[in-house]
Amino acid sequence: MSSPAAAFPLSQAAPVATADAVPRTVVHKFGGTSVADAERYRHVAQLLLQRREAEQVSVVSAMKGVTDSLIDLARLAAEGASHWRDAWHALRARHRGAAVALLAEDAGEGVEWLDAQFDELLLVLEALAVIGGLPREVLDRVQGLGEVCSAFLLGQHLLALGEACAVLDAREVLVVDHGELGVTVDWALSAQRLQQWRRNNPQPRVVVTGFIARDRQGRITTLGRNGSDYSGAIFAALFNAEELQIWTDVDGVLSADPRLVPEAVQLEALSYDEACELAYFGAKVVHPQTMSPAIERGLPILIRNTFQPAHPGTRITAQRSIRGPIKGLTLSPELAVVNLEGTGLIGVPGTAERVFSALRQAHVSVVMISQGSSEHSICCVVRGNDAAQARDALLRAFAGELAAGQVQRVHVTDNVSVLAAVGDGMAGQPGVAARLFEALGRARVNILAIAQGSSERNISVAIRSEDATRALRAAHAGFWLSPQTFAVGVIGPGNVGAALLDQLQAAQPALLARANIDLRLRAVASRGGMHLAPRAVQGDWRSALAAQHETSDLDRFTAHLQAAHLPHAVVIDCSGSAEVAERYAGWLAAGIHVVTPNKQAGSGPWERYQQIRSAALASGARFRYEATVGAGLPVITTLRDLVDTGDEVLAIEGIFSGTLAWLFNRFDGSQPFSALVAQARALGYTEPDPRDDLSGVDVARKLVILAREAGRALSLPEVQVESLVPEALRDGDVETFMGALEQGDAALLQRLQRARERGAVLRYVAALTADGASVGLAEVPATHAFANLQLTDNVVQFRTRRYCDNPLVVQGPGAGPEVTAAGVFADLLRVAAGEGARL
Ligand code: ADP
Ligand code: ASP
Ligand code: MG
Repeated sequence: MSSPAAAFPLSQAAPVATADAVPRTVVHKFGGTSVADAERYRHVAQLLLQRREAEQVSVVSAMKGVTDSLIDLARLAAEGASHWRDAWHALRARHRGAAVALLAEDAGEGVEWLDAQFDELLLVLEALAVIGGLPREVLDRVQGLGEVCSAFLLGQHLLALGEACAVLDAREVLVVDHGELGVTVDWALSAQRLQQWRRNNPQPRVVVTGFIARDRQGRITTLGRNGSDYSGAIFAALFNAEELQIWTDVDGVLSADPRLVPEAVQLEALSYDEACELAYFGAKVVHPQTMSPAIERGLPILIRNTFQPAHPGTRITAQRSIRGPIKGLTLSPELAVVNLEGTGLIGVPGTAERVFSALRQAHVSVVMISQGSSEHSICCVVRGNDAAQARDALLRAFAGELAAGQVQRVHVTDNVSVLAAVGDGMAGQPGVAARLFEALGRARVNILAIAQGSSERNISVAIRSEDATRALRAAHAGFWLSPQTFAVGVIGPGNVGAALLDQLQAAQPALLARANIDLRLRAVASRGGMHLAPRAVQGDWRSALAAQHETSDLDRFTAHLQAAHLPHAVVIDCSGSAEVAERYAGWLAAGIHVVTPNKQAGSGPWERYQQIRSAALASGARFRYEATVGAGLPVITTLRDLVDTGDEVLAIEGIFSGTLAWLFNRFDGSQPFSALVAQARALGYTEPDPRDDLSGVDVARKLVILAREAGRALSLPEVQVESLVPEALRDGDVETFMGALEQGDAALLQRLQRARERGAVLRYVAALTADGASVGLAEVPATHAFANLQLTDNVVQFRTRRYCDNPLVVQGPGAGPEVTAAGVFADLLRVAAGEGARL
């Protein structure tokens, strides 16, 4: 391919740049999104007029959606569908409307010109209806009409504004060939024709039709769907432009398709190589062939936003700007994996050649190839539509080997997408593939095949299409191109749940800004109803929950959390309900993390506990429940660290109830115990029914949780529990109970006095030793740590092989919604950190 610009220096005919560096020639390409209606043409014209360029060439696409409509129209007519005329009328009306709005007093002539085009189209369509088929050449003629009308509208509008402007129908100059490797340009012929055309049309502004051209036989053709970008690059070469600016509806090339990854970031600069990889693998923003005319000439391409003309956009040049290992990710949908497998392939030269020539003969293009060094199988990714053909071609080509049992099978997996990570920065840098695979693994995406070229600019993986969006988002977050996002659902906005939701909403912006993690609250379920937010709960969660009218349903709640295609989902159960705990194993098996202050699962039936643990182990999802013991205190974390580092727990002792701690800290005989219970209740230190605290069951549950964490298969019925609720008062309503509680005062006072005589105090203590587990009142020496607690403080002592003389003690406030919620929140952050968030 020779350079047309060198051979035919066309632009020298145009005005030459002046001293204050007005660019000589700039080619602008406006996509369909930039010229959707009259208003947008006006906007584009203003944008052009504001630019000081000696020669200004605008290549335009059809109005948004028009090419699709024209193709539909041709198909409908060819199929003999009755309503094609209505569609034709609608399309003509859309163009007429734009002409009337744009062309002021010239509108009449404009509409006439457009009508002539549509009349001609009508004739073609009628002919199609008669012949009942759609020959390729006719389709090419029909589908290019949108560009013809579009260039006319913009050109006439500029003229109506008093600008000297010429409209170039690319079919007059652009000659192309359709080869196996796509469309190639006859540069010499095209340049010569353009030179001729320019002699008769020397205006400084030119509007050119994108997409369309002629072949060497003079037949109308196109450059393929989305081909106007390529037209832009071709005309930039033919006009010897200094720059090609591609105007679209986004701020440039983004790190991923913004429709799939809303957090995608704009890329300031790309090398041609990177842009080729991104474009080739499906980033729709630039057509893949656009780059080749630019590369040859070192022509910079800018991708810019028509709606934000001040934004600098993305600059694509030969220069490499390396920022991080990858620049962007692309996703190609609607593919299939074809796998040829056989022991007879091992070490046999020429197998690959036979596979590819069979596919070539069947006109199947291969998107991705992968073969392991065992040579036992060879795997190709092809377009979904070609899969059956590809399989048949291979079955034919290897029929002999299949019959002889040397090839075992040719297998097709449909509904496949290819995810590709692209960037010059990955060359020679270890760990890039690992990061991609880790992100996909964490998002539970199975990889079907892998390919990386030795240019190390692209790592591609074939995955199932149903996983594609989640995979793309996970990889995008995994490379820190966007925040690590978690879909969070909270059940039970009671005291702790409400405090947690408040903390979550308050901390969310700072976590996003500082640590790049997005804890996105998507669902809140209470007994009275639930709120499922389309994206995230907006504003205060209380009003959102109050405004909903949906009854709570945990199936829908779960489906909603998963539907977001976010890489990670977390359920936070603040309900205290055993029914919700029944769901944990299912959630964990589905990869949803579970965080909870609810003691039901940790202290409930051993079998369920085991199911929950194994579900978590199998899926890698985490089950965290730090706040079940000691509220926000790091009790379970400490115990885990001890066990994980190989220590052996000999005994655990402590005061695990803030309520009972407070009561016995205050119980000095100066007032009856029942009066203290009434006070604690009034202060909100007890459960609504203080028997829940006084029965000791809650403490026993905490002891079970710790025992299991320490490796003991303990269950609740095995714990010896001393209840402080007199036998006769166990049933009946709360108020009756409170009224009668003084019945037990005398006995408790007596125990206190006996303890004192021995220089001790009374404390409600939980103990796990080699001999068993018990919770109940104990006499504690007045000098003992347990005898000197403040207010509602909890204390836990771990006696282990390493901490044997002097136990490890965790102590501090162990009750209250705020600190408990903070414990839950900390668990959530640990889950996030476990998923790679950098906190
Ligand atoms: P035009 O009509 O201007 O040619 P297109 O619709 O062909 O516009 O291409 C622009 C669209 O490409 C954007 O609106 C965006 O949704 C999509 N797109 C896909 N991948 C990317 C990406 N990586 N960067 C930017 N845009 C992308
Ligand atoms: N109008 C053509 C299409 O929709 C070309 C383009 O817009 O790039 O494919
Ligand atoms: Mg496009």
